Parts: sequence; structure tokens; C-alpha cells
Amino acid sequence: MRKAIIDFAKCKEYKPCFSKCMVQENCKTKAIFKIDPGESAVVDTIACNGCGICVPECPAGAVFIKEV
Ligand code: SF4
Ligand code: SF4
Repeated sequence: MRKAIIDFAKCKEYKPCFSKCMVQENCKTKAIFKIDPGESAVVDTIACNGCGICVPECPAGAVFIKEV
């Protein structure tokens, strides 16, 4: 099963996404989002379908797809 995985350090360092994940709108299942401003985005692994749309869309290169 494929799921999106976030490099938390890379994501947190990317300040333009301080309060909102830029790829959230591109995710059809709304599985990637920020809970707290200034912290890394998270992935709802139940909602994530592993489509990979978020990977090239993340400006920080912080999202990967992994077989889990
Ligand atoms: S777009 Fe990328 S860097 Fe920005 S919050 Fe989302 S996962 Fe993190
Ligand atoms: S892999 Fe697809 S479903 Fe999962 S977080 Fe990325 S865009 Fe959303």
C-alpha cells in the first residue's frame, strides 16, 4: 500500500508554508494538512490513497511516497 510520507524537518523549515500546507488543496482526499502553525504538515494515512499528486507540488520537496 502506497502512502505519502513527510520529511518533517524539511517541511518545518519551509517558512512560506508556516500556517497552511500549499498542497492541501491539490489533495483530493484532503489527507495532508497542518495542525499547528510553524510545525510540520501531517498525513492522515487512512485518508491518503497514495496517488502521489502532492510529491511534485510540494515546493520544499518534503513529500515522498513510500510502500508501507
Ligand atoms: S507544501 Fe510541502 S513544505 Fe509546505 S506544508 Fe505542505 S508538505 Fe510542508
Ligand atoms: S499521496 Fe495523494 S492522497 Fe496522499 S496526501 Fe498526497 S495527494 Fe493526498
